[in-house]
Amino acid sequence: LDKRMAEAVPVLRRLGDAGYEAYFVGGCVRDLLMGRKLSDVDIATSAQPEAVMELFPRCVPTGLRHGTVTVLEGDRTYEVTTFREESEYEQHRRPQAVRFIQDLEGDLLRRDFTINAMAMDVTGEVKDPFGGLSDLERRTLRCVGDPDARLQEDALRMLRGIRFASVFGYSIGDSTWKAMLRHRELLSYIAMERVGSELDKMMNGSSPAAGLTLLGSSGLWQHFKQVPPVGRSICAAETPGDWPAGPWPADLDLRWAYVWISLSADHEALKKWLLHFNFGRQRIDRIAALVHMNGMAVESCQSEAAGDSVAAVYDQWIDLVLRFGRHTAMDWLELKRETKEGLPPVMSVEQLSELRRKTEAITVLSPADLAIGGDDVKAITDKPAGPWIRELLGELVRSCAHGRIPNSRDALLSEAAIRLEKE
Ligand code: ATP
Ligand code: MG
Repeated sequence: LDKRMAEAVPVLRRLGDAGYEAYFVGGCVRDLLMGRKLSDVDIATSAQPEAVMELFPRCVPTGLRHGTVTVLEGDRTYEVTTFREESEYEQHRRPQAVRFIQDLEGDLLRRDFTINAMAMDVTGEVKDPFGGLSDLERRTLRCVGDPDARLQEDALRMLRGIRFASVFGYSIGDSTWKAMLRHRELLSYIAMERVGSELDKMMNGSSPAAGLTLLGSSGLWQHFKQVPPVGRSICAAETPGDWPAGPWPADLDLRWAYVWISLSADHEALKKWLLHFNFGRQRIDRIAALVHMNGMAVESCQSEAAGDSVAAVYDQWIDLVLRFGRHTAMDWLELKRETKEGLPPVMSVEQLSELRRKTEAITVLSPADLAIGGDDVKAITDKPAGPWIRELLGELVRSCAHGRIPNSRDALLSEAAIRLEKE
């Protein structure tokens, strides 16, 4: 057993000692057998939820309707779910009702893919009624039972299938794939935040391009609910050559930015797209800012090709940092570094580290960083207060960031006086 699973053994033992069956199930068994790092440890049991709550006073009834109790053991939590069957599905997304049952096999039968439908007891013995182990060996994703029925019950499974296939580098079994093609329009029943979270998990895997390609070639993209259009349509891209080949950046948001840059997305349209999939505000701003900044960085580099001096390019870079902020600038440099030649504009490693150095060295990025404030500039002129104060401070910020004047009270005041006189 893996260390994470070993820590959960007392939970299974307590259930066993009380006369119930208890197993590790689902993702943790799969990940253990694949030699992957486990994400969460889930437990299935023949005990009813009330019995589980009685056996484990430290628990939270997280999903009683579905038979799930979250048990706190040591400093970890485990989802303990009663063996269950699912009846009639509503709207291709959730069972109308669940029925608690006594046998493990019935519980494994309701699960989506054979590799997710295995269980393991405390001794490490695997229960595998649907051939999950041989599918692991063949690196193939197959539905449990009849793929048509399983994908119609819950259309999200199609997307989970593509996510698992791309994260694990598996192929999708023939009959499962054909069923996906037959039922792809059912995806429109699925809430966009659930779709977004699957897309995210897919993008975070080992081969995002494989997942994106599967989404294109299966036609699933077209059936997401009312997706706002962005740049060159993501739906139209369906061969591996349509996506960046990698290397991919480590950071998930940088990966999304990379995809959208490669599709020449407009950053405003992109914000709507990301919002549609319920990406949080912070992530939306971060990804869209990167795409926006990249467009402008490409422009400034093109002006270098047109004959500008290297010094002018650095000057333009400082302006970009002032406009987008240090975080976005550092994100962009990181994206550029990790994707190597995958992302225009072409830059040498030395150039990139010089830009990084310059970005880190800027000490004045906003009026709050200046050694003087609005009152100080107001005091050297008779002009009535107005928007000119903010504008003047902005110009002083620029002068400091570009290293033309030091950020000292004297230097700033005399520069302010010169600029006021010129008007
Ligand atoms: P990961 O946690 O790495 O995303 P997982 O396989 O553990 O992958 P979970 O969403 O945590 O996925 O679900 C746990 C288990 O519940 C799955 O392994 C599968 O057996 C079952 N399951 C989850 N979602 C579905 C679904 N939509 N239809 C059928 N079974 C499902
Ligand atoms: Mg899981």
